[in-house]
Amino acid sequence: MNVLNVKPRLLLGPGPSPVPFTVRRAMSEPVIGHMDPQFFAIVDEVQSMLRTVFGTANRLTLPVSGTGSAGMETAIVNFVEPGDTVIVVVAGVFGGRIAEAVDKIGAHAVRLEVPWGQSASLEQLKSLLREHPETRLVAVVMAETSTGVLQPLTGWAHEVHRMGALLLVDTVTSLGGMPVDVDTQEFDIVFSGTQKCLSAPPGLSPFTVSERALERLDQRATPVPSWYFDIAAFRHYWGQNRVYHHTAPISMIYGLHEALRLALEEGLNERYARHRIVAGALWAGLQAMGFELLVDPAIRLPSVTTVRIPLEVDERRVRAELLDYDGIEIAGGLGNLSGKIWRIGVMGHGARLPNMIQLLVALRQRLVNQGRDVPSGVAAAEAAYRANNRQGAK
Ligand SMILES: *Cc1c(COP(=O)(O)O)cnc(C)c1O
Repeated sequence: MNVLNVKPRLLLGPGPSPVPFTVRRAMSEPVIGHMDPQFFAIVDEVQSMLRTVFGTANRLTLPVSGTGSAGMETAIVNFVEPGDTVIVVVAGVFGGRIAEAVDKIGAHAVRLEVPWGQSASLEQLKSLLREHPETRLVAVVMAETSTGVLQPLTGWAHEVHRMGALLLVDTVTSLGGMPVDVDTQEFDIVFSGTQKCLSAPPGLSPFTVSERALERLDQRATPVPSWYFDIAAFRHYWGQNRVYHHTAPISMIYGLHEALRLALEEGLNERYARHRIVAGALWAGLQAMGFELLVDPAIRLPSVTTVRIPLEVDERRVRAELLDYDGIEIAGGLGNLSGKIWRIGVMGHGARLPNMIQLLVALRQRLVNQGRDVPSGVAAAEAAYRANNRQGAK
C-alpha cells in the first residue's frame, strides 16, 4: 500500500469548500484526551466563538459530533415527538430531507411545497399555520444549497411563536457566509455544518438552542429515540459538569477552532461583504458568457450560484474536464434539477476573485472544447468586483 498522495483541488462546489492551511495545521496539533483541562479550554473558546458567529447568547451552543445531517437528526429526535404536526418548507433537497426525518420518527410532516428556485412567503406560512393550529414545530432551510435560494425569514418567528410552535432553521450553507442572527430573528433550534462557509473539513455540526426550546425538551412525553443524539445526555459534556458522553472528535474541534478564529479575525461583516462581492463578480462573469442564472437576484444566495445549462452542452463532460484538466470542482443539480443546472460554491476561504476568474476561464475553455463559441466573462467579473468593492465593502 502506498502512502496517500491526494491531488489538491480548487473546491468551488456546494461543499466542502477550500480549507485554509492554518486550519489543516491546527488539526495536526497533538491529540490529547477529551477530559484534559487543556482541551476543555479549547472547547470553551469554540463554544464562545460559535455564539458570536450564530449571533446568540444561548447557553446550549455546541458542535454536534457528525456532519450537518447529524445536527438535523439531533434537532428532529429531540424536538419532535411521534404524532406531532411539523410544517416543513420543501423548496429543494434539504427541506425534503427534514420532512423525511420528521416522518421517520412517526410525526406528521406537513410540506409547504415551493417550486425549486423560489422561496416560501410569510403568507403561505400563515395560512398553513391557520389550517394546522396543532403545529408544534416549523422547519425551514435558510440557504437551500440544491437551488441557490435564500429563504427570507423576517417575521417568521413571530408567527410561529404566536401559535405556540418552535422555529427550526437549517443554516448549513449560511453560517459564516451571511448573517444568521439567531437571537434577533428569534430562531429556536439551529444547526449548521463546518464544510460550507466556515471552511473547515466536514465532521461537526454547529448547533444552538433557545431557552424556549429547552423548556419544550423538559416537557417531552416520550423518551428521545436516539442514544448518541440525546441532548439531555450529551449536553453535560459541553456544560459546567464535563461529564463524558462520547469521545469528542478532538482534531475536528481544533480545526473548527481555527476556522472560527479566522472568521472573527477577518470580521464577520467584512466576511459577509466578501461573499456578496465575489458572488456578484461571478454572476456578472457568467452572464457575460451568455449563461442564465436560475434564481431571481432578490433571493439569490451569495454562497451557492445556480446556473442554467444550455441544452446542447454535455454537462457531465464539462465537469469531468474541469476536474481533470483544471483541478476545479463544481457540482451538477440534485433531484429535479439534475442535468439542468450547475452549482458553484462561493464559500468561506474559496470566496475570492482569483478563484472566480480561474473558473470562468476554465469553463470557457471546456465549452470551446465542445465546439461552442463563448465570449469571455473575465472583464465583466472584474468590473463588477471593482464597482461593488467600491460601494459595498464599507
Ligand atoms: C450540506 C447541507 C446539509 C447536509 O450536511 P452534511 O454535512 O452533508 O451532512 C444540510 N442542509 C444543507 C442546506 C446543506 O447545504
